[in-house]
Amino acid sequence: MKASIGGYTRAETVSHALSLLAEANGAGRLLAGGQSLIAALNLGTTSGDMLIDIAGIGALRGARIDGNRLIIGALTRHADIASDPLIAEHAPLLAKAAPLVAHDAIRNRGTIGGSLAYADPAAEYPACAIALDATIILEGPNGTRQVAAQDFFLGLFETARADDEILAAIAVPMAADGERHVIREAARRSGDYALAGLAVVRRDGRHRIGAFALGDRPLLCEGAMAALDGGDIDGAVAALATDVDPTSDTQASAAYRRHLAGVLLRRIAIDLGVG
Ligand SMILES: Cc1cc2nc3c(=O)[nH]c(=O)nc-3n(C[C@H](O)[C@H](O)[C@H](O)COP(=O)(O)OP(=O)(O)OC[C@H]3O[C@@H](n4cnc5c(N)ncnc54)[C@H](O)[C@@H]3O)c2cc1C
Repeated sequence: MKASIGGYTRAETVSHALSLLAEANGAGRLLAGGQSLIAALNLGTTSGDMLIDIAGIGALRGARIDGNRLIIGALTRHADIASDPLIAEHAPLLAKAAPLVAHDAIRNRGTIGGSLAYADPAAEYPACAIALDATIILEGPNGTRQVAAQDFFLGLFETARADDEILAAIAVPMAADGERHVIREAARRSGDYALAGLAVVRRDGRHRIGAFALGDRPLLCEGAMAALDGGDIDGAVAALATDVDPTSDTQASAAYRRHLAGVLLRRIAIDLGVG
């Protein structure tokens, strides 16, 4: 199907993009890497949008240190997340997640901000953001707003971002000495969306687990986290089965996804030397 769009404008700056969004009066749609949006337009699942191309806004690209946080601009591409030494050192979970996202062609254009804003429950970065206890930075007509990642993802493709806001960056607490970051997923083929996945951070002896493809949004698995903190792997796997809330679809049944989650957690426990 041919994409139906209402118009196209290239934004030069964040404030330009915000005024274009305001002018579009609810019909504005930000275009970043286009790897999800263009597919949706071609499929006709979204149409008539006024496309506001933000891909050229340099201020939204790249990583920098700010106090004890690493700020990663929304337009930082998956390929750059995988190769940036600052991200590898201070947010290794994201560097490990990036190669699991799709294929080279998509990683060369798709952006971390696009992935977080799109909020696909099977995507890797949203679950990493939750495991990292990251903060989502939004720019809107009334200035900057910061939302804990845990509170940002509200449901299937639904976030706390208002229509007139731009996701500007993600702020990640910088990894401390001895902190461990692990991500594992099960997918039918390399590059496919995961059937089930877990992102885990161990910080100061405590664990944070973000689950993806295991519910209608990325999930913080608090029952499994508490059991893992106590070194109880069997308890963590049992708790995980109720922390997650997968559905059955053409790819896998809910029961199979739950089973996979338990297998992944046991492997991660081995990676971390827990139990
Ligand atoms: C074949 C295929 C396989 C894929 N596999 C995976 C996978 O395994 N894992 C995975 O995580 N992803 C996967 N993706 C999705 C890919 O990672 C996309 O790049 C990503 O979801 C969207 O990023 P984008 O920059 O391309 O955003 P776009 O497609 O440009 O935008 C996506 C949505 O986010 C909004 N948006 C974009 N940027 C912003 C912003 N800064 N502020 C507010 N709203 C914004 C847009 O308006 C749009 O609604 C796959 C895509 C394809 C086509």
